[in-house]
Amino acid sequence: MKVTVLGSGSKGNALVVECEEDRILVDAGFPARTLVARLRAARIEPESISALILTHEHSDHVAGARVAARRFGWTVYATAGTIAEVPRLREVAPVPISPRETLALDTMQVRCVRIPHDGLDPIALTIESRSTGARLGVAYDIGHVTPTLEGALADLDALVLESNHDTEMLRNGPYPRSLQRRIAGGRGHLNNAGAARLAAALVHRGLRHVVLAHLSEQNNTPELARRTVGMALRRTPYEGTLTVASQDGVVRFGVARSPRVEQIDLF
Ligand SMILES: [Zn+2]
Ligand SMILES: [Zn+2]
Repeated sequence: MKVTVLGSGSKGNALVVECEEDRILVDAGFPARTLVARLRAARIEPESISALILTHEHSDHVAGARVAARRFGWTVYATAGTIAEVPRLREVAPVPISPRETLALDTMQVRCVRIPHDGLDPIALTIESRSTGARLGVAYDIGHVTPTLEGALADLDALVLESNHDTEMLRNGPYPRSLQRRIAGGRGHLNNAGAARLAAALVHRGLRHVVLAHLSEQNNTPELARRTVGMALRRTPYEGTLTVASQDGVVRFGVARSPRVEQIDLF
């Protein structure tokens, strides 16, 4: 499995997951022209993508969805809430999925999990390669971490996780109080400390990559996010990589299924 984050932040999110010859896109939060330019820069032909899965209706996740899906013939999957909130998506006949759906694609199995966020039916995803068993989790736009989400993200080989803001920077930053409250609220965005706690809780022998995503450009810095999550990971046996995705950079990594420890109870 190969993962390419085409950019992540409040101005747009999109990532490509490849298994063998099969490619899917998770979110299309850039205008179609920008999305295509980023795909080509990453040497991914837009025509080679078969499906687009949308996590929710906010424009930083759907901005280029309709135009690009129509142009390249992508099958669009989205929850009923997302489809209802983005009426223009109907032009590409999206396939409705439930927030608890498991999608059986040719080379990948995609599991949806409901997340608390101020969209209608927002979801996080885990994606498993059918051939290697490698497992990736993609979780951003999370107001708070639920036991369901934490359970769904167990046993991953790689995790793309929101680390949206630093609470101090948000409080002292330029945003009006109402917007600050929305971001920090239970249906807003996950802060650095929350990301640190979740990442540390998800550490197990197989976890090899943690990529911090959806950083706020106003209320966070890559250094602060990395330091906060890095400190928490150093208190665990974690030996993998820690990368910070940016709004205008591409991050690419391979995900292999790490051998698992098998335990057999004899008595
Ligand atoms: Zn959102
Ligand atoms: Zn977002």
